[in-house]
Amino acid sequence: MTTHIGSPAADARRNASPYLYGQEAAAVARVLETGQYGHTEVTEEFEGRVAEFLNVRDAVAVMSGTAALHTALLAIGIGPGHEVVVPSMTFCATVQAILATGATPRFVDIDPATLCVTDQLVMDAVTDRSRAVLPVLFGGRPVDLTRIRKELASRDIVIVEDAAHAFGSSHGPRLVGATGDLTCFSFGPVKNLTCGQGGIVIPRTRDEADTIRRIRMLGVVRSQGERDRTTGYQVEGYGLRYQMSGINAAIGLAQFPHFEDTTRTRRRLWRAYRRALAALDGVRLVDVDPDRSVPHLCQVLIPNRDEVHAQMKASGVGVGIHYAPNHLQPAFARWRRNLPATEQAGAEILTLPFHQYLTEADIDQVVTALGQALTETGATPRAGRSQQ
Ligand SMILES: *Cc1c(COP(=O)(O)O)cnc(C)c1O
Repeated sequence: MTTHIGSPAADARRNASPYLYGQEAAAVARVLETGQYGHTEVTEEFEGRVAEFLNVRDAVAVMSGTAALHTALLAIGIGPGHEVVVPSMTFCATVQAILATGATPRFVDIDPATLCVTDQLVMDAVTDRSRAVLPVLFGGRPVDLTRIRKELASRDIVIVEDAAHAFGSSHGPRLVGATGDLTCFSFGPVKNLTCGQGGIVIPRTRDEADTIRRIRMLGVVRSQGERDRTTGYQVEGYGLRYQMSGINAAIGLAQFPHFEDTTRTRRRLWRAYRRALAALDGVRLVDVDPDRSVPHLCQVLIPNRDEVHAQMKASGVGVGIHYAPNHLQPAFARWRRNLPATEQAGAEILTLPFHQYLTEADIDQVVTALGQALTETGATPRAGRSQQ
């Protein structure tokens, strides 16, 4: 395969494209031939496959990771008057899901080493109105809140994990999703496993699972009862059109047999980046443990990020910025707080191309381009802060 460095269009396309293994189109065609395009048995098969992979009882599929977060929060009763503790350093979807419930975000700072929240930061941020904590497993890194779990429970605060980046990552001996917390995954186009669009909630209890199933289907429960024999259904509560179609589920099912390959490839590419970046001064790699996660992003922190970003873009490398801190976004300015580590990371973070179309030669080229950009923009190496 020819390299796409220097070809901005091809690079942008690949950065934003799902990695396909080849059987996805046929799987979709088989669903189309059935004439049933909504939530079908294929959706349920996908849910079963995820539950089996994670070794959990229930997995409830919805149309996106955002919908997963929204329904998970609704299922634990989050609504107006409540506050959800959430890092500002996340995709805006996390914050929008909170606002969709009528609750408000309570932004919390991050550990500059992991770009994730810590138990201490969470405890410093909770207030009497906090009803949930939404840790983001940034880049696939697990977030350990074990030390404060009891304290949170005693204050009626539920942990809901945004594991959009972390499908396949693990917390100690168990996979993320299998630790007993309410966990939300995304299967969007560029996530570790894709349904095209999709998400899933791992509920804690059967009740939560039932509630989420009802909410995702317009509040409708299919009924065998006498009373509604004519319509065949009953509206039993609040609901949205959030179910995952069998068309999307078929894509995810076609990806599943290759997930081990995905895991190996992402770990190998990530290690290649780590090796290549070790030779560069002036950048700090945001580290992940490739044995405990399926690396989702490759990110570096650079003091003169804006110049380096512009320079690399100009030379055709598909760099990006994940994320501009949410508390600095106009729509969320009302909930702005002083979050120094988030603001520093927001100013320094640079996302390098990281997807399964990459080769190790591509990675060398990206890192060479980064080195050139650092030299040309006169970046000053930070002693002792190169990659760990
Ligand atoms: C992708 C993502 C989401 C939302 O998932 P969608 O499937 O795009 O709705 C939420 N949080 C984070 C951190 C994400 O990266």
